[in-house]
Amino acid sequence: MDHEEFRRLGHQLIDWIADYRRDCAAGAYPVVPQLIPGEVRARLPSEPPSDPEPMDEVLGDLARVVLPACTQWQDPRFFAYFPSNSALAAVLGDLASTGLAQLGLNWQASPALTELEDLTTDWLRGMMGLSERWSGVIQDTASTATLVALLCARERATDYGAVRGGLQASPQPLTVYLSSQSHSSVEKAALLAGFGRENLRWVAVDETYRMRPEALSEAIAADLRRGLRPCAVVATVGSTATTAMDPVAALAERAGAHGLWLHVDAAMAGSAMILPECRPLWQGVEQADSLVVNAHKWLGASFDCSLYYVRDPQHLIRVMSSSPSYLRTATDESARNLRDWGIPLGRRFRALKLWFLIREQGVSGLQGRLRRDLAHARWLAERIDATEYWRRLAPVNLQTVCVRHEPPGLEGDALDRHTLAWARRINESGQAYLTPAMLDGRWMVRVSFGVEATEHQHVEALWSLMQSAAAAD
Ligand code: PLP
Repeated sequence: MDHEEFRRLGHQLIDWIADYRRDCAAGAYPVVPQLIPGEVRARLPSEPPSDPEPMDEVLGDLARVVLPACTQWQDPRFFAYFPSNSALAAVLGDLASTGLAQLGLNWQASPALTELEDLTTDWLRGMMGLSERWSGVIQDTASTATLVALLCARERATDYGAVRGGLQASPQPLTVYLSSQSHSSVEKAALLAGFGRENLRWVAVDETYRMRPEALSEAIAADLRRGLRPCAVVATVGSTATTAMDPVAALAERAGAHGLWLHVDAAMAGSAMILPECRPLWQGVEQADSLVVNAHKWLGASFDCSLYYVRDPQHLIRVMSSSPSYLRTATDESARNLRDWGIPLGRRFRALKLWFLIREQGVSGLQGRLRRDLAHARWLAERIDATEYWRRLAPVNLQTVCVRHEPPGLEGDALDRHTLAWARRINESGQAYLTPAMLDGRWMVRVSFGVEATEHQHVEALWSLMQSAAAAD
């Protein structure tokens, strides 16, 4: 492809994306495509073309085959999982990143990449009200950031045992504390970091699904009595099921008393901290050792853009650094080499999409949108609370409402079947998308607000849909 052909196709593709996003915001597509697995592949040739194909045909297939098989995450009626916004400014930033084709192996390999990452992580730190004691880096996902955190915790507890016999030489098993509401990525990270499932402790939660600090103390004390070595606590600020907020200050006090690493998983809820009124929800965060916030969720920086903050960057660098001769440069002492701040060597220019987003929307624009979404959740919660046979199952801390329709006479498995049936009816209608989840062993439905295009009229329409779907079962 020559540059002029690229220009022609690029204009065409941008036009196509602009039309798509406009139509998506107008609800032109079913939110969830009704397909069976394998249907997409069946519509495409199974063999690669032996000769070059005209790009116009490729773009044709994008519209004909790919788009209809996409779940519409940017649709204003998407209330499933969590918002994964991709603001148009961030789309342009991502395009610029790919166009510039930078690979940040070290500062010299792309000074702009390194320094914009430095700048944007600093910006977001300030926007969230965190002190300058935090240093940030962009990882791909929260799963990776939590893995990095637990590797750092392990290395601190073993005095950098990895360069000796590793965990296999540890005289006492190291234990990690999480809760039943922790995201599955926490357990996965702990297993990958070598702690072993037998050394994970699921600390009890209270009636609002927050980790109980006394239960943490008891679990630590029990492990100490058994001769084990408590190593790390993972607190969740904004759990996946209910946006429960672990009491970070109380957990930090207990972790600190025993020298445990405290990692805060604020993947979803961290964005809310750009609102000063939300910051009491993570009070105590300054005492943590590490923190992850996904800018690729509610905030609007297209996936993937997960910000990982640490209090002791030298420790992170010592755990993560590798310095083969061919990567050494004259600036190693004076510049950040981000390859030493995480697992991969190569690094995309992710900061561009965040930089574009923050500059285009401004802090006040981002704050206004998040406040609107909080109001949507409160509006629905009020309707649920005021309507017979509907029950809200958890406090609405942010933008997620957990709900069940409980008509008289329905309990246990029958109630579960009813819950799944009305949620399925909505999802199959293509008019909205909600995700059911288990809470206390029973199914409930999560309504997660936060898609950029969702306005009040969509919330009202959803509530009508929920009531008619539940009545129809
Ligand atoms: N932690 C929490 C609280 C989440 O809600 C999620 C998202 O689903 C994750 C971690 C995992 O995020 P990622 O997909 O960036 O690994």
